Amino acid sequence: MQAEIIAIGSELTSGAKLDTNSQWLSIELSALGIPVCYHQTMADDRAAMLEVFRTAVSRSDVVLITGGLGPTLDDLTRELIAELLGTELALNETSLKIIEEMFAKRGRKMAERNRIQAMFPVGSEPLPNPIGTAPGVWAEVPREGKAPCRLAAMPGVPSEMRRMYREQVEPKLPHGEQVIRRSTVHTFGRGESDVEAMLGDLTARDRNPEVGITASSATITLRIESRGVTFEECDAATAETKSLIRKTLGDLVYGEDDDTLESVVVTELDKRGETVATVECASHGLLSHVIATVSPSGPTYRGSIVVGDETGWPSAESASDLATKDGVTALAQNCRDQFEADYALAISPFSKPEGDEAPLVFVALAHKSGVEIREQAILSDLTIARPRAVKTVVNLLRLHLAK
Ligand code: ATP
Repeated sequence: MQAEIIAIGSELTSGAKLDTNSQWLSIELSALGIPVCYHQTMADDRAAMLEVFRTAVSRSDVVLITGGLGPTLDDLTRELIAELLGTELALNETSLKIIEEMFAKRGRKMAERNRIQAMFPVGSEPLPNPIGTAPGVWAEVPREGKAPCRLAAMPGVPSEMRRMYREQVEPKLPHGEQVIRRSTVHTFGRGESDVEAMLGDLTARDRNPEVGITASSATITLRIESRGVTFEECDAATAETKSLIRKTLGDLVYGEDDDTLESVVVTELDKRGETVATVECASHGLLSHVIATVSPSGPTYRGSIVVGDETGWPSAESASDLATKDGVTALAQNCRDQFEADYALAISPFSKPEGDEAPLVFVALAHKSGVEIREQAILSDLTIARPRAVKTVVNLLRLHLAK
């Protein structure tokens, strides 16, 4: 069995956009154990597209096409699949209704030419697009002396394509002899080499599931890749490896897959019905941004105060008073009082050291029973130091909530 991917769009061949769809789909197909033998990126050109489609269908068992499903004249994918099948396009009333409703919901009148998006090659199946106007097409193209080629045409817009693939195309695809499940475990608090040393044999190259380590802005992520004959087998092996990782690394582990430090903390606060407020100097609003992003309108986030490094707020006489343990303690406690929050997170200004000393930043968590402080030397540039300070203080709250 082999697959190939065809990305359509003149904006791709002109260099205006990079074809990221093929990369994403290849990773997905490899997880199903289907090797991808060809990627082709091509302009909206009728003759060239037809030739490429014909060749793809004759040599590959799975063909995934993205792009060229829009309503304009240069969107040819739909029409050429009909030609490939030796049939015509026919109107699908259900799809037309869905597209009309989509326009109505957005308060816009559907242009006549959008009707073409509800036309499908006879013998094919529409793939509804819940987040865009271009439905996809599923077809099983007959081949002489071979099983039919499974062909899916999906929109070019990456978010629409991904959702359509996951929800509607993947379940229709066959599996190879070996499938793969990938997942991640995130840690914070120790460096990459420390984590690797703690994990020992778990990171051995020939292990299945394989555990790889990557570091990004103070977060260490463990990538688990499990290979097996069935997804159930992979999932069981992944669960066992995750539990070993958690046992070995303890509270360094803060989450999995899409979790972030702040999403984990905000979810826990929501669950408890507790609140947090923030005050920050050195991080210039980054702390408030990350928390507000995961708690956009919830009651969890009481508010924030963002002041520049040089401002002495609220009771210290100067920024250098705040860049101390006492200074950051005062910041955190005042913030907690002022916002009447259960917790306050504070980040001091950078200290101004004398001579060759590294500048410091202090972070603090205030809660009902006291204040916890961490101090960090700034050995790298500020674009790294700021997110690091933010993560350190959010992590203080995470660890406190886990007690
Ligand atoms: P729609 O009607 O929703 O636009 P379509 O199938 O006609 O669907 P295209 O017009 O081909 O989609 O592409 C829409 C946009 O999606 C492009 O301008 C580009 O930004 C993005 N896009 C298309 N193909 C790819 C690709 N292979 N990789 C990354 N982005 C892509």
